[in-house]
Amino acid sequence: MTDSLDFDLLARVCNPPGVSGFEDAVQHVVSTELQASCDEVRWDSLGNVIGLRRAASGGPARRVVISAHADEIGMMVKHICPEGWIRFQPIGGLHAPSIVSQMVVVHGREPVRGVIVPDHGEAETAPRLEDMQIDLGRPPEEVRQLVAVGDPITFAGEVAWLNDQVVTGRNFDDRIGTYCLVEAMRQLGPTEVDVYAVSSAQEEVGVRGATVAAHAIDADIGLAIDGSICTGPFPRPHDPTCDFGAGTGVYVMDRLTIGHPGLVSFLLQLGEREAIPCQKNIGGGTDASAIQRARGGAVATTVGAPVRYMHSTVQLCHVRDITATVALLKAFLEHAHELPLGVA
Ligand SMILES: [Zn+2]
Repeated sequence: MTDSLDFDLLARVCNPPGVSGFEDAVQHVVSTELQASCDEVRWDSLGNVIGLRRAASGGPARRVVISAHADEIGMMVKHICPEGWIRFQPIGGLHAPSIVSQMVVVHGREPVRGVIVPDHGEAETAPRLEDMQIDLGRPPEEVRQLVAVGDPITFAGEVAWLNDQVVTGRNFDDRIGTYCLVEAMRQLGPTEVDVYAVSSAQEEVGVRGATVAAHAIDADIGLAIDGSICTGPFPRPHDPTCDFGAGTGVYVMDRLTIGHPGLVSFLLQLGEREAIPCQKNIGGGTDASAIQRARGGAVATTVGAPVRYMHSTVQLCHVRDITATVALLKAFLEHAHELPLGVA
């Protein structure tokens, strides 16, 4: 396995805005990319993009889904003060100390830049989310011309190399997953299963898109692709974490899902056989919960590169972990027909 990253693809996938419920810009990119690797691509009413690549045999086959969420945490305009300040409603789990002093883009009549500031003088501690506001640096009448209640707001950062092994971005939870989804489909050889590649909507507000997509697909086996918890100054040292640069994370469990033990060991064995670095992860909560519980249920878990500082605006990911995630997804899909299903 040679570490490699298509930085242009990463930038195409990460830079478009996509706050939960407003994923169209990123989904257009994903849909175009999936058209090259899938037999068909469709959109549903929640904004999920679903690519289908049929089994090489063309006959009836197992249905296997891989799903990465396209949405990112952000905000929505809640109120415009007479002075032109914008009060915002958080969308998804914002980390208050990470967002004060950050630059944002309000997607109004046109994209408008602003900064997040506390609504009162200098405090010793970081302000709470409800005590922050956005300053667009424009006169109030101009603000009201450009911006309306309900406009989505994203953080302003674009992807960049931090050094030759590490990339940084505002939304690696879960655009690294989106990148791995697209890249794995691009590299995928013939399979003996029908592969559904889902770029899901509204995960950060409660796994809403994947719930609908999984119901429609009715899969036998599913993998969510999402960030693994990673070592760093937080979480605390005794919390379960993956090591940065030590391979892709295979979720044993998270807040919403117990990974199917047979699937977890199948993935870990596959990694060992194909020399793909893998490590166990105990994570937050992903699209796997929806896939596992749809219809009569599916065998499911999550894989994904460790991401440092998830839910901040400066998330980090290691190229080795991204490469390993793509390699594991490709190997998994090419071998998914070998996974024993049913009661042992
Ligand atoms: Zn996520």
